[in-house]
Amino acid sequence: MDWAALGDETIDLLRRYLMIDTTNPPGNEIAGTRFLAEVLAREGIASETIEAAPGRASLQARLAGDGSLGGIVLHHHIDVVYADRRYWTVDPFGGVIAAGYLYGRGAIDMKSTGILHLAAMLALKRAGIPLKRDLVFLATADEEAGSEFGAQFIADHRRDWLAGTEYAISELGAIQPHHDLRAPLASIVISEKTGLPLTLTARSEPGHGSMPWPDTAPHRLIRALNRLLEAERPIRVLPEVQEYFSCLSALWPAAQSAGHDDLAQSLQDPAFRALFLGNRQFAAMVRTTFAVTMLQGSEKINVIPPEASAEIDCRMLAGDDPEEIAGWVRRVVDDEHVEVAISREPKVPNLSPPDTELYKAMADTLRRRVPGAVVAPMILVAFTDNWVFRRCGLHSYGFSPFILEDAELQRLHGNDERISLENLREGVRAYTEMLVDIAGA
Ligand SMILES: [Zn+2]
Repeated sequence: MDWAALGDETIDLLRRYLMIDTTNPPGNEIAGTRFLAEVLAREGIASETIEAAPGRASLQARLAGDGSLGGIVLHHHIDVVYADRRYWTVDPFGGVIAAGYLYGRGAIDMKSTGILHLAAMLALKRAGIPLKRDLVFLATADEEAGSEFGAQFIADHRRDWLAGTEYAISELGAIQPHHDLRAPLASIVISEKTGLPLTLTARSEPGHGSMPWPDTAPHRLIRALNRLLEAERPIRVLPEVQEYFSCLSALWPAAQSAGHDDLAQSLQDPAFRALFLGNRQFAAMVRTTFAVTMLQGSEKINVIPPEASAEIDCRMLAGDDPEEIAGWVRRVVDDEHVEVAISREPKVPNLSPPDTELYKAMADTLRRRVPGAVVAPMILVAFTDNWVFRRCGLHSYGFSPFILEDAELQRLHGNDERISLENLREGVRAYTEMLVDIAGA
C-alpha cells in the first residue's frame, strides 16, 4: 500500500471534516453525515443515514466479509463540544495546519478516529482485500450529550445496522510517551464508569429567616450531605484495575511503584491510601464516587423554604448495583425527613474481557506502533458510546494508535485542540494493518 498517499488523504479528509461545525447542542450532525456519505459514495460504498430528530443524523456503511467470523463495528461520534473562540489562537472550525499539527474542535475527540476508520476502509476496498469479518463504519450523533439521538437511538430502532457483528471499537485509550516512565504505556479501554444520578430532598416547615431552628430543610440537607461526604464507601479493586496498576507501576522508579502490585492490601495502609486516593483519577478507578453538583434551597434570602435539594453525580464501577448504592446512601444519611431518590434510570456499568482476539490484535498493533510499549487494560472514569454497544452484546473497546502527551490530552474539551500530522500518518497505517490482521481472509 502507498502509505504516504493514504496519510495525505487522511489529513485532507480530517481537515474537511473538522471544518464542519457539529457543536452539540445543537449537533446538526447531518452536515457531517452528508460529508461522510459523499466520500463513501465516490468510492462505491453505499451508506444509510437516519435522523433521530431533525438534523440529528447518524450514518452506517458496511464492507462485507465472507461471514465466516463476526463483524467489527468501527464507531465514532460526529458531534463535538463547544469551543470558546476567545481562548483559541486559531479558528476551531478553520481546518488550520501549523507547525506539524492540524487544529480544530474534534481533532482528538473524536473526528480524527472517525477519519482513521474511514480512510482504512477506503484503503481496504481499493486494495480489494478479501475479508472474513464485515467491517461496519458507524458515525453517531449526540455522544457528548448522552447518546439519546445517536447510539441509543440506533440500539433501540436500527439494531439491524449491527447485524452479524461481534466487536465494536471506539475512542480513547492511547499511547503515553515515556518521559517519566521506563517504557511507553499504551492503554485499551475495556469499561467505562457510568452515572447514577441521585437527588437528596430534605423537607421541614417553612419559616422566616429571622427565627431559624436547627431542623429547617436546608439545615437538614447540609447535615445529610456532610454525613455522606464523610462516609467511606468500601474500596473495590477490580482485577482489571489491578492489572493496569501492575503494568503502570512497573514502569515507575522503584520508590514510587512500591505497593501498587497489590492495591487491595496496600490500600489498608493509611499512608499509602492517602497518597493513592490523593490522585483524583486513581481514586475514581477504585470506588464509587459522589460529586455534589447542584444545590437548591430558597428563592429569597429571608425565607426558610419547605424543601431543599441536592443533585449528586454518582459514578459506578463495573459490578456496582444502583439499588445497593441508593440503600447505602439512605443508611448513611440516616434521616427520615431526607428523601434519597434515583432521579433518572441508571446506566448499569458493563465491561469487555481483555482476552479476546480483537484485544490481542489491538495490543500487537500498539506494540508495533511503539516498540517496547507496555499495553494495559483500562477502566475509563468517563462515559462513551461503548456502553451502549456492550449492551447490544458486542465486546467493545476504546482504542487509539495515537501517541499523546498529557499536554495534548488536556486540549480535549479545552482550547487549541489538535493532532499531529505524524500521528495521523502513522495512525492510519497502524489502523489499516490491524484491520487486515483481524479481518483479512
Ligand atoms: Zn468523545
